[in-house]
Amino acid sequence: MKYTEALEVLKKGNQRFVEHKLQNLTKGIIDCDHLVRGQDPFAIVVGCSDARVPTEMIFDTRLGDLFIIRNAGSVANKTQIASVEFAVIKLKVELVVVLVHQNCGAINAALNYEFVSENLDFMLSQIRELINETDDKSIENITKLNAFKSINNLTSKSKIIKSKVEEGSVKIVPAYYEISTGKVYFL
Ligand SMILES: [Zn+2]
Repeated sequence: MKYTEALEVLKKGNQRFVEHKLQNLTKGIIDCDHLVRGQDPFAIVVGCSDARVPTEMIFDTRLGDLFIIRNAGSVANKTQIASVEFAVIKLKVELVVVLVHQNCGAINAALNYEFVSENLDFMLSQIRELINETDDKSIENITKLNAFKSINNLTSKSKIIKSKVEEGSVKIVPAYYEISTGKVYFL
């Protein structure tokens, strides 16, 4: 699916979610025999593990529609970048959404930093760098900047993704999920 069409499908799905008119998610495993043969997702989502942001639900997508990479803070490091490369090359997905959200616990943890473990430190390092570089340290501003930072990582740390974006066959868009309304704002 072309990325322009994929983006429209996501926007319409989120609109249905906001209006309590879910169509796809409620179907469950009905009519999914074709999924046994393989996956053909139309979008990749790099999002947060936060329990309040269930990706398929907020976009009202069907089984097999989304290739999702979640971690606390929606950061893009080697493993996430490799997953996006896989979906772009092997599954020919054109649209990548980097999805951040209101009141993100990972951003909060970076803002109120204290050492917990080396692993957590590594995961939060991208967000902590942003905080140090930025005057407006409000959680909303840092969260949105973090989406752009992850997008930058996807292209600057992957020749494959960079060339796809440059040739126009892959589009990466940032998005912000508002927990209080269920609305996804494409930034
Ligand atoms: Zn989060």
